[in-house]
Amino acid sequence: MTATATVGFQTVPMESTLRSATLLSRTWLTPAYVRVRLAGPELRGFNAPGADDHVRLFLAPPGSAAPPTPEQWREFDSREYTPVDNDTEAGWVDFDFLVHASGTGSEWAANARIGSVCAIGGPRRSNAIAGEPDALFLAGDETAIPAITRFLRQRRPGTPARVVVEVSADNVQVPLPIDDATTLTILVRPGENLAEALAGMTATDRPSGNVLAFVAAESGVVPIARELLGERWAIPSEAVIVKGYWRKD
Ligand SMILES: Cc1cc2nc3c(=O)[nH]c(=O)nc-3n(C[C@H](O)[C@H](O)[C@H](O)COP(=O)(O)OP(=O)(O)OC[C@H]3O[C@@H](n4cnc5c(N)ncnc54)[C@H](O)[C@@H]3O)c2cc1C
Repeated sequence: MTATATVGFQTVPMESTLRSATLLSRTWLTPAYVRVRLAGPELRGFNAPGADDHVRLFLAPPGSAAPPTPEQWREFDSREYTPVDNDTEAGWVDFDFLVHASGTGSEWAANARIGSVCAIGGPRRSNAIAGEPDALFLAGDETAIPAITRFLRQRRPGTPARVVVEVSADNVQVPLPIDDATTLTILVRPGENLAEALAGMTATDRPSGNVLAFVAAESGVVPIARELLGERWAIPSEAVIVKGYWRKD
């Protein structure tokens, strides 16, 4: 049995639009983690207010022009990503990509020519936070770092946050907006991993009070995170988001 929520997530529907953009710049944050800025007039008014809001990026093949209709955009490869920052008036959105061994999204982020065209679909919904959490529990691998960054930025100043991230040795220096109220644990693959860390946590590791929890990583972590947060820590389901962000083949 879990307790009744006094804090929690509330899903707000958003007007879903497909906006075309171009790749404006690329900044390597570590050897395997890259920030890309997408820009264009259609990104004016882009809005993704929730920390874990996500969109679908449609990636045109190298050298392609922007197709004229949303239906044609949707024929291109697409992947889901988390907007980490944006300027509604200037018309740009930043995304942070893990660059891994192979994949359309990873390859595009690392190598697409500046000026390449793409489109952003969504977000179709946004997770607003109801109430004031006493503490945050945030965990994931590199793919969750944009959302974790946004949760940390958006919290009330001084709210304690327990953050656990699993990264490769290349990504130990990925920047996170931590402060004195943040306890950060970095697990470095292959020796350490998030699944084992979550499985090993006990009641004494639970942040106190009304906790808001977010965990996103490879799909295998999902049942382990649910068991920790829902069963062992009795955090109400309304205050928990656990998602598989990718699947190991
Ligand atoms: C809601 C949501 C938000 C997301 N936000 C982000 C984000 O902000 N930044 C980000 O980098 N990712 C994010 N992801 C994860 C990203 O969508 C996936 O990792 C996606 O599979 C990457 O596509 P790809 O074309 O690079 O690889 P794919 O073509 O999907 O896969 C190719 C191969 O790479 C493997 N692979 C895929 N992802 C990874 C990975 N992370 N690590 C190691 N191997 C992998 C697959 O198992 C497969 O073998 C998010 C996912 C979701 C569902």
